[in-house]
Amino acid sequence: MGYAEVSVNSPIAQRRTFSYSIPSDLSIEAGQAVWVPFGNKVLQGIVLELTDYPAVEETKDIAGIIEPHPMLSPPQISLARWISEHYLSPLFDAVALMLPPGFERKAVTFIYSPLSPKERDTSSLAQEQRHVVELVWERGRVALKEMEKALGAKQARRITTQLIGQGWLARSYELEPVKVKPKRVSYLYLAVKAGEARQEAVKLRQKRAIKQAALLDFLAEKDKPVPWSEARRRVNCDKAAAGALVRKGLAEFQQVEVKRQPISYQDITPSAPLKLTAAQKSALASVKSSLCQTATGSTPPAVFLLHGVTGSGKTEVYLQSLAEAVKLGKRGIVMVPEIALTPQTIERFASRFPHKVAVLHSKLSLGEQFDEWQRIKSGECDVAIGPRSAVFAPQPKLGLIIIDEEHEWTYKQHDKSPRYHARDVAIKLAELTGAMVILGSATPDVESFYHAQSGDYRLLQLPQRVVPKEGSPLPRVEVVDLRDELKAGNISIFSRSLSQATADAVANKEQVILFLNRRGGATFVQCRDCGFVLRCRRCEVTLTHHFAEDALLCHQCNYRMPVPRICPQCSSNRIKFLGIGTQKLEQEAGRAFPEARLLRWDSDATKGRHSHQEILNKFRAHDADILIGTQMVAKGLDLPLVTLVGVVSADTSLNFPDFRSGERTFQLLSQVVGRAGRGGPKGEVVIQTYSPKHYAIQMAAEHDYASFYEKEIGYRRQLHNPPFSRLARLVYSHTNDTLCQREVERMKRLLNEEIDSKGIDNLSVIGPAPAFIHRLRGRFRWQIILRGSKPSAFLAQIPIPQGWTVDIDPIGLA
Ligand code: ADP
Ligand code: ZN
Ligand code: ZN
Repeated sequence: MGYAEVSVNSPIAQRRTFSYSIPSDLSIEAGQAVWVPFGNKVLQGIVLELTDYPAVEETKDIAGIIEPHPMLSPPQISLARWISEHYLSPLFDAVALMLPPGFERKAVTFIYSPLSPKERDTSSLAQEQRHVVELVWERGRVALKEMEKALGAKQARRITTQLIGQGWLARSYELEPVKVKPKRVSYLYLAVKAGEARQEAVKLRQKRAIKQAALLDFLAEKDKPVPWSEARRRVNCDKAAAGALVRKGLAEFQQVEVKRQPISYQDITPSAPLKLTAAQKSALASVKSSLCQTATGSTPPAVFLLHGVTGSGKTEVYLQSLAEAVKLGKRGIVMVPEIALTPQTIERFASRFPHKVAVLHSKLSLGEQFDEWQRIKSGECDVAIGPRSAVFAPQPKLGLIIIDEEHEWTYKQHDKSPRYHARDVAIKLAELTGAMVILGSATPDVESFYHAQSGDYRLLQLPQRVVPKEGSPLPRVEVVDLRDELKAGNISIFSRSLSQATADAVANKEQVILFLNRRGGATFVQCRDCGFVLRCRRCEVTLTHHFAEDALLCHQCNYRMPVPRICPQCSSNRIKFLGIGTQKLEQEAGRAFPEARLLRWDSDATKGRHSHQEILNKFRAHDADILIGTQMVAKGLDLPLVTLVGVVSADTSLNFPDFRSGERTFQLLSQVVGRAGRGGPKGEVVIQTYSPKHYAIQMAAEHDYASFYEKEIGYRRQLHNPPFSRLARLVYSHTNDTLCQREVERMKRLLNEEIDSKGIDNLSVIGPAPAFIHRLRGRFRWQIILRGSKPSAFLAQIPIPQGWTVDIDPIGLA
């Protein structure tokens, strides 16, 4: 008899597998999905390994097979184990990443009769038993739930258990059906004639119902159903106004179902490979030779870092590298940041590999996701493209994994288990499958660049833009010192330069983007005369202001100090709390540029019905003059009418309390600078800051990654931060702040005792400190940071109670 080690879909299972015996009538393979008895339930499980001996003395039988073919390939099984071990996540959470969309469902128990008609003599049965058996025969099979409804739960269980024991009946399990939700869009339309609506609008205006009147006029002008999301944006009104019109019988809502299709090939014309520039050629040659060597097994597969400024033709290198892999009978996975997964990106790949591209994306309907997954699994697709989860696409014969914009934070899943980084997972997967990896970026992650410098990765560079015929040079960048504005008596949030440039651009019918990094809010303290910002002496991160205690606090090590009344550097008393949100900025911009039409784009504006694409389309159609937004804006900058980008405050990002704040600032600003003025020679960027000499700002303005890297890696080395160490962030949350703090202190003691007793010398515990967001959804949060060479392996040995979350290789410490 054989045994199987099964990862079971139960929160109790944690990081381990369970041994089950394999009944002789089942043929089981590793990677297969099965039903297993677990406690008094039947749960889903995935067989990770077949063994001759069980790990425990007594085993139960596997109850049944969910799918005849394995769900996970052998490399995926190893990958799931690695994720669970490295990120300290429950094993099934890791396994589930690789299962088809919608697979994780409960079991539905069915009762059927295994007997053939000849054996059907029921004379020996009691009447209630006969009744049940005959019902099952008549219907073929009956869901246990249904039986329980008819007979009462206890009765139904008793009778079916008896009959199953006697061999009359048997159980089978099936997944409950997938709940595919069709996508519906809400439309608003007039319930009266347009003329009448206009008259009503006049009356409403007299009654000062301005929003309602505007909405009514808008509908009258359109005189056809309008998507509610569009109406609310155009008129800038809320649901209450629409509701009022509906109640007055003037308008009505209608739900319209829309079909989502990942790729519609009808509109896509196949494209031929471009003739490469010299730099592209040389990059491709390296990739190609490595692919060939890997295919013959003469060298282990390489990780390439493709460093090229925006518009240098990285995507073309990806496309041709993929084509080379396909020529060798291999397939590829392409990962892009969530926001970049636009129809244009997909189209570029789809037109080069017609009908051979699959898209995986959580915004697709479950049905579509499932279909795409199946297409990939069956080997139909040369390329699977998607955000971070695409690394788990069941691509057979994987030869090449591409990660575009590899420095992006969105590759790290930070909000739920497993807290994996798709780049590290991709590199592990490549190692397991013999695939190659290309990481591409204009501003590589400092850690990636370090690996490229030290020879772990191979560096490919595209130093110049592929200049199109008209010529589109990098824009002019002006760094404005806000201290000078103050001296000149300008207390507005717009410097004189930015004001003038904005007004000019709007007058010229050009478009402007005002960019604000909102993370960080009004939390740091800065001198408005000399720009000095208070930092932690130990960690070098910016101290955060806590209003409740009126103190400054380090969120890494809990260092505290009172808020100084005068600047420690220049003795000025203009020491101020800074920070501004997008809504405030919108107000101020409305006041400063009354002629301009404004459009706001941030996570609040896109939370509901407004998709990023809708907002972008509206701006692209020149329905607004000034776009106001956060990080997202930087990524949607390919807008030809935009001649000016204003960075309202580079300092919010610079002073975010995290050791990576310099890197983040550099990346954001580079993106802004690299993408402004795409339409022609007129591009201009204005960066406002109190720290004009900061290397992240200077180097971004000068498009100088190399100098930025040298500075940044120096600081990392000095402070022993990644890549010179690895981090783990442990956060505990509790409704009671004191208990929360006590538990975190207990954990710190425990960790230190373990470190001492095991004699580990390259691991240190930092904190505890309150988390940057100290209170979240009614719970207090405290954190500890573990820094050293292998925090994950160390923590694997420590019992970690409920209420803790552990984030290995966190992307942020705040
Ligand atoms: P990146 O991905 O580095 O931002 P892209 O691949 O998008 O750069 O290239 C920028 C522009 O240059 C695109 O419009 C692309 O079609 C064009 N391009 C890229 N490579 C070439 C080439 N070898 N010859 C002509 N045009 C090219
Ligand atoms: Zn000062
Ligand atoms: Zn500190």
